[in-house]
Amino acid sequence: MLNQNILALGKKRSTIREIFEFGNQRAKLVGRENIFDFSLGNPNVPAPDSVQHAIRDIINTKHPSAIHGYTSAPGNEECRAAIAESLNARFGTDYSAKNLYLTLGAAASISLCFKALTASPADEFIVFAPFFPEYQVFIEHGAGAKCVVISAQVQDFQINFEEFERKLNPHTKGVVINSPNNPTGVVYSAETISRLSALLTTKSEEYGHPIFLISDEPYREIIFDGIEVPFIAPKYKNTLVCYSYSKSLSLPGERIGYVLVPNTVDDFGDVYAAICGAGRVLGYVCAPALFQQVIAHCAADIADISIYEKNRNILLEALTSMGYKCVKPEGAFYLFPKTLEENDRAFCERAKKYDLLLVPGADFGAPGHMRIAYCVQTETVQRALPLFEKLAKEYGL
Ligand code: PLP
Repeated sequence: MLNQNILALGKKRSTIREIFEFGNQRAKLVGRENIFDFSLGNPNVPAPDSVQHAIRDIINTKHPSAIHGYTSAPGNEECRAAIAESLNARFGTDYSAKNLYLTLGAAASISLCFKALTASPADEFIVFAPFFPEYQVFIEHGAGAKCVVISAQVQDFQINFEEFERKLNPHTKGVVINSPNNPTGVVYSAETISRLSALLTTKSEEYGHPIFLISDEPYREIIFDGIEVPFIAPKYKNTLVCYSYSKSLSLPGERIGYVLVPNTVDDFGDVYAAICGAGRVLGYVCAPALFQQVIAHCAADIADISIYEKNRNILLEALTSMGYKCVKPEGAFYLFPKTLEENDRAFCERAKKYDLLLVPGADFGAPGHMRIAYCVQTETVQRALPLFEKLAKEYGL
């Protein structure tokens, strides 16, 4: 009667959801303050004041039908122009409203790209482990294409080019990157980006069709140590940028983001139209109207994200001194250390004894690791350190 694959997706509780439920049960017994929940990537800093001001201003000055009505499918022109202007000011680009399609956050942006680009069930999209697990769901179940995984290069979490090159083939439709990365926090180096761009250019010529680079960038602004994150789109002409205000403006529940289709993309007009078509197929209609208007005022703003760097420094230093091994993250709000036994699920189960809630790396396609989402209060991080130490002692460190 039902599509069994879709049914299975709905029935299967994600590990993160299981951990969340476990935390709720434990909180009833020991108190919420004694649960160290590092499982969710839910930003803990408030949205900036400019967002609250914009909401009040819109509510106080506009007619309700102008606030809550449908917008055009690609989104409010003023909002798209404001986003283009803020990108141009930062990156020296030349975008306009016609390059932007507003979405319900990065998850929708990526889904739209997969749906728009897939022409046949034989089409393949490449993802690099460890990766945001929903990519596989969107590619296989949403677009009906194939998801090809490149294994993790665990020493630095840059791209494993040897395996990547081997797996590129004429069916490759797109390649997904996510830098700064969830779950590792790693930022791709300028060298990685230029090697990737050169390889995709060569292979596109060889196969006689473009290989699209889908750049999932919800953490673009969350970077540490004053490093520079290369803006990917100008480095490779067939890049589609998927962005979200969930993390930079701390608005994950409001569902607002965009797909950027630069003019450099081959058959720009058709690709943009296909994104619009995918929006129709998926029933998105338009992005939330009130928040389109908020973004028109706040496109260039960023929440106070300094706590993430502080938490990263405290955790990284303490865990390293306890003997945990971890690639230094330069952005986002995740740490991805090796677990102290090979079986990462067993390790994360053991951590629960101390009410430390961690996500096994296997969920991201990189077993033998754990994800620590440190978008929590600094006090929570500090109070968790003795527990990480007790856990390490169990393994003889
Ligand atoms: N892509 C990555 C890498 C993410 O980590 C997330 C959310 O955590 C998303 C996409 C989805 O973000 P959004 O809330 O904007 O849909």
